[in-house]
Amino acid sequence: MEQNRLWAPWRIPYIRGLEKEEGCFLCRDYAHPEEDVENLVLWRTARSIVVLNRFPYNNGHLLIAPARHIADLGEASEEEMLELCKLVRESQRALSIAISPHGFNVGLNFGRCSGAGLPGHLHLHVVPRWEGDTNFISVCSDTKVIGQSLAELLAILGRASAEHGLPCL
Ligand SMILES: [Zn+2]
Repeated sequence: MEQNRLWAPWRIPYIRGLEKEEGCFLCRDYAHPEEDVENLVLWRTARSIVVLNRFPYNNGHLLIAPARHIADLGEASEEEMLELCKLVRESQRALSIAISPHGFNVGLNFGRCSGAGLPGHLHLHVVPRWEGDTNFISVCSDTKVIGQSLAELLAILGRASAEHGLPCL
């Protein structure tokens, strides 16, 4: 799934690895509710946080993480496990309302060898998919076009959440 994207400004810090020097961005985001818009936080709950991935595989790519800095499912409480799973459901609901995907990939990566960019803090990926989203550009040039700005998408998802009472846990 890892590809180059036609979205250079967002990729530069990732490529340079700057976020690694700043520590865990999920812990930072959870600790600063006043910066939710800048940090692209869609929802925060008692035990979890849902953020737009700044380096998305596809439009609307969300990350769902426990608030606690834990690396594995084995460290998660029953309540955290249940909330993470419910947030997968609610994320799919919100994305379906906001941007009408045809399908989803939902997944977990453990360890850098699996492709986890942040191996210390457990997080689930929810990636919307559309028929034909592996189009000629991605096939021919290993490049993916992301069609919507993250700020715009956050606003759309926020409105959809407010109108439909999401997340409903
Ligand atoms: Zn963390």
